[in-house]
Amino acid sequence: MIAEIYIDIPAGSVDKPFDYQIPDELVHLVCPGIRVTVPFGRTRRLGFVTAVKASSELKKLRKVSQVIDPVPVLTPELLGLGNWLAETTLCPTVSAYQAMLPAVMKASYEKQVTVADRTRLDREFPELIPLFSKDFIGWRRLLTLPDPQKLDRIRRAINDGVLSVRQNVQNQARIRKRTVISASVSKERLEAFLQKTESRSERQRDVLRFFISRNEPDQKYPVSELVTKQGLSRQALHALTAKGLFTEEKKEQFRNPYEALDEEERTQPLPLTDEQEKAIRPIIRSVDRQETNVFLCHGVTGSGKTELYLQSIQRVIDKGRQAIVLVPEISLTPLMVHRFKGRFGNQVAVMHSGLSRGEKYDEWRRIREGRVSVAVGARSAVFAPFENLGLIIIDEEHESSYKQEDIPRYHARDVAIHRAARNHCPVVLGSATPSLESYARARKKVYQLLTLKERFNHHPLPPVDIVDMREEMRDGNHSVFSKELFTKLQERVARHEQTVLFLNRRGYATFVMCRSCGTVIKCPHCDISLTYHRASHLLKCHYCGYETRVPDACPSCGSDAMRYFGTGTQKVEAELNRLMPEARVIRMDVDTTGRKGGHEKLLRRFGEHQADILLGTQMIAKGLDFPEVTLVGVLAADSMLYLPDFRASEKTFQLLTQVSGRAGRHDLPGEVVIQSYSPDHYAVTDAAANDFNRFYQEEMQIRHRLGYPPFYYLTLITVTHPEAAQAAGASERIASILRNSLSSSVRVLGPAVPSVARIKDRYRFQCMVKYKREPKLLPVLHQIMQHFKETGKNGLQLSIDMNPVSLM
Ligand code: ADP
Ligand code: ZN
Ligand code: ZN
Repeated sequence: MIAEIYIDIPAGSVDKPFDYQIPDELVHLVCPGIRVTVPFGRTRRLGFVTAVKASSELKKLRKVSQVIDPVPVLTPELLGLGNWLAETTLCPTVSAYQAMLPAVMKASYEKQVTVADRTRLDREFPELIPLFSKDFIGWRRLLTLPDPQKLDRIRRAINDGVLSVRQNVQNQARIRKRTVISASVSKERLEAFLQKTESRSERQRDVLRFFISRNEPDQKYPVSELVTKQGLSRQALHALTAKGLFTEEKKEQFRNPYEALDEEERTQPLPLTDEQEKAIRPIIRSVDRQETNVFLCHGVTGSGKTELYLQSIQRVIDKGRQAIVLVPEISLTPLMVHRFKGRFGNQVAVMHSGLSRGEKYDEWRRIREGRVSVAVGARSAVFAPFENLGLIIIDEEHESSYKQEDIPRYHARDVAIHRAARNHCPVVLGSATPSLESYARARKKVYQLLTLKERFNHHPLPPVDIVDMREEMRDGNHSVFSKELFTKLQERVARHEQTVLFLNRRGYATFVMCRSCGTVIKCPHCDISLTYHRASHLLKCHYCGYETRVPDACPSCGSDAMRYFGTGTQKVEAELNRLMPEARVIRMDVDTTGRKGGHEKLLRRFGEHQADILLGTQMIAKGLDFPEVTLVGVLAADSMLYLPDFRASEKTFQLLTQVSGRAGRHDLPGEVVIQSYSPDHYAVTDAAANDFNRFYQEEMQIRHRLGYPPFYYLTLITVTHPEAAQAAGASERIASILRNSLSSSVRVLGPAVPSVARIKDRYRFQCMVKYKREPKLLPVLHQIMQHFKETGKNGLQLSIDMNPVSLM
């Protein structure tokens, strides 16, 4: 038998299946979706088996060396999905396969030195004998030896053929096992033994009494639990096992980070409101009839979308099928996990970046082995290996994090719709501020629109005030707080109510500029300004991590008038401490929440009213729900408005809408103050008026005029090279190939220098393709990729991003 195998090297040149012979002893183990190791060139590599067949056109075939997985890790559906991703996102097929598996299942490759001739080693290299007590040693370990002379001798032994080097492929995923114990004799025998052990250790008698007191003495108990929870002695358990009264064995164990939640009492479905009832009916109908419909559920926060999700999933479980729920990483809070675990308990697997690698692997296995029916997770959970999918839900569908920026550059929404079509099941997209793409499709009836207009508890949305910061400046107020916001803040602190202050920036100041000549300190490797971090007093590059001290004098004119510009959370915190020393402030940004669990800890403290003000970046915009928050302030509503990105207005609108929803969610009425330097911009005024439809109309006109999505599709092609001329030349050639091969209705823009002209010492040039429908585009792009593979050796790198989310 022959296996077709994709080799684990994410390069275009090997992106095709290779034929390998399956040795007789492995024939019953090798099947599509399984991973194996194979000889490849002069090394050994991991490979994915995609097909098994009876014959090959090639005569001389190499053999499969080892089988790694006991059961296929990729289902036939996921294998097909991998091909589709490779085709439509222009990535190597193995990159797509790897993206579907937990990171811990990536193979690790290590060189090992093995003993080729033990007799000669003993005779000629006696000083190496202790190192080779086992037959091999890892190369990395050898490099750390304290005695470098040994390394010389090892090289010598390799040259002489006494030692040899091999590449070892290792599966890093580990299944955790634990010891369980059970009685191997009857209750009567245990009792008889207890009588006889009158004089024996009291600890052994405890063990015997425990097992006798149980109804089923042969039930298996984890030894560690007997020790910690029942207070039994480990030695006594082992001693009785040695006497043949008990049996100990190793049993596979799933690490379960949510064990406590699984044991809690389940929540019951709530009786739906009329509006919810109307919205859920078509979803249930699609689930029942196994129809591939895409629903866009447009409902303000608090309108009961999550309850709809829960009840739709219940229906799917009742039908014996499974559901995937995607949630943006930052919304995957304990509260969110709680709602799903609360309803479905241990039926839920959670894929969360806060889990350890082992925990993630076990959650994945629980899905793969059919032990759960619901997977809740961020973007990559869309690949959950369920075999009988009945529903896919994407909450906050407008979030840009659903697009992966790295290879494979997929959008979870596209993958979801593709899987839904294969599985004959519906997709539900939910959002209070749907993306223009999705909303436009819903208006054109490609998606079905479901609307929830009412907040569940009928609390009105809070009134929003827009403050014109230009006037504040004119009136001589140079503080980050307008008079109005400051007064309101003081009122809250006096009344012991809480405030959330939102700022869309990180660090103390965005950049450092010379006031004499206007020079901005930039990263020497990437063409962007460095960000000042006050804690370390360093300037940092957010692209490559480059760090440097703040210069005392301007590097171009020598003036000492270097000044910090822009506003960051640290600066606001300092100002708050100065103006309102009595107010307790919690600052939440990338710097204060870096450690695992840091995020939750800060939120818990705020929830317990240990602070008056929560100050943070976009991470506080989502899902927060604190009853005592009665004021929300947005310090710089426009900080995103002028980014070089055609979605800047849309993102600003979404963010402002979301932040405003944080106030007055409970009994205390809330207020929102938005400070802006462009208070008349429609993204600001529409968000303040909570008018999605007006924003949609206005933004669609602009997109139409400028030829952007959803009226046109975009493809972004980026070429990089250490020399600007090389990158420019290559992108010129690509632009002309595109112009010559595509239909005349397609617009090819560029090549142009993007807003970040250089990253990590590589110059960047971009071409943009705008099109409505162009069947020739993918074939031409594949050709360009192919061409680059052949000429790509001279240091050019090419990346193609279909439907990019970021244009920088
Ligand atoms: P969304 O996901 O749209 O923000 P949620 O589903 O979280 O809305 O609902 C907001 C609040 O209203 C939650 O506390 C939820 O428990 C409650 N809720 C939603 N639907 C109902 C219902 N039919 N009956 C009672 N409470 C409900
Ligand atoms: Zn840099
Ligand atoms: Zn200067």
